[in-house]
Amino acid sequence: MQPVSHIFPLLSQPKNVIITFHQKPDADAMGSGLGLFNFLQQLGHSVTVISPTNWAGFLSWMPGAKKMLNYEMQNAKANEALNKADWVFCLDFNTMNRTRKMEEVLTSLSCTKILIDHHQQPQEEAYDYGISDVKKSSTSEMVYDFIIASGHEDKINNDVAACLYSGVMTDTGSFRFTSTTASVHRMVADLKDRGLEHSQIHENLFDNFLESRFRFFGQVLLNRMEIFYEYNTALIAIPQADLIKYNVKTGDTEGLVNFPLSIHGVKLACIIIDRGDERKSSFRSKGGFDVNTFARKYFNGGGHFNAAGGKNSEPLEEVVRQFKAAIKENKEQLSSYQF
Ligand code: 5GP
Ligand code: MN
Repeated sequence: MQPVSHIFPLLSQPKNVIITFHQKPDADAMGSGLGLFNFLQQLGHSVTVISPTNWAGFLSWMPGAKKMLNYEMQNAKANEALNKADWVFCLDFNTMNRTRKMEEVLTSLSCTKILIDHHQQPQEEAYDYGISDVKKSSTSEMVYDFIIASGHEDKINNDVAACLYSGVMTDTGSFRFTSTTASVHRMVADLKDRGLEHSQIHENLFDNFLESRFRFFGQVLLNRMEIFYEYNTALIAIPQADLIKYNVKTGDTEGLVNFPLSIHGVKLACIIIDRGDERKSSFRSKGGFDVNTFARKYFNGGGHFNAAGGKNSEPLEEVVRQFKAAIKENKEQLSSYQF
């Protein structure tokens, strides 16, 4: 993988560009993708953004989202665009299987592939150019750096700024996590100087839910949460029946895992959701417990040191049993925290 700066001279020649990111995109995946989309369009490229799956309704306000293709729903159109691509940007994922059904076509394409990502252990050999930096707060911050380093900062208009801000703000837990460096604040200050309206973005992202989501949170916090104080660990295991009863949609469970993490004494929080086709897990930790390794070892997943996820094909009860066995195996480290 060559440094991403090697493509800067090539940016001035119009190309067919595809931008994609991980399945069920969060605000960083979509924000970095659409931020790059709104930037590259201004340079005269023909750009198509393809999401491997559907996305949360509260992200659809993002500039450019209406033109995005859903690979599962608009397969023929997306494949046609992919087959014409000169460049494919892969954002906010480290392994191709995070793109679900797109994995096969992405792997087989012979066009130029470019990675911009902040997850651990990327598949560097799969890309021609790229940048991978686990110290970066978000892929959106990396797209901002990319634009600045390419010398086209004059192209950071309101649309680009709104997308990139959404990603950096949400991936830093509203500028709370340790990944929030001085550079992150400098980036936001620069976006503000360029006209960013941040309050509106917070409203779009956080004040746009239906009542049923909160009734669902009430149900699972009351009836599905278990705390294992001797392991400083909390688990919320959610059967599919709860998702159906409360009409839970893509994105509605975002943020749920942070609730048990704010309980005094809890250093590891996990939710396991029975989505029907698979059991999807999310892990969050505070301090020295590495959930990236934990998710890789026990749950076919990965992510970052303090935030990771995974998936299992076994039934929910079995995954819960595996989780309990896994925390037992890690008892020494999990129980060593002092409060
Ligand atoms: P979330 O819990 O919000 O779905 O994901 C937290 C972090 O873990 C994200 O950075 C995400 O990219 C990563 N992650 C989530 N699920 C998976 C997975 O199944 N495999 C891998 N490798 N990473 C995941
Ligand atoms: Mn991210």
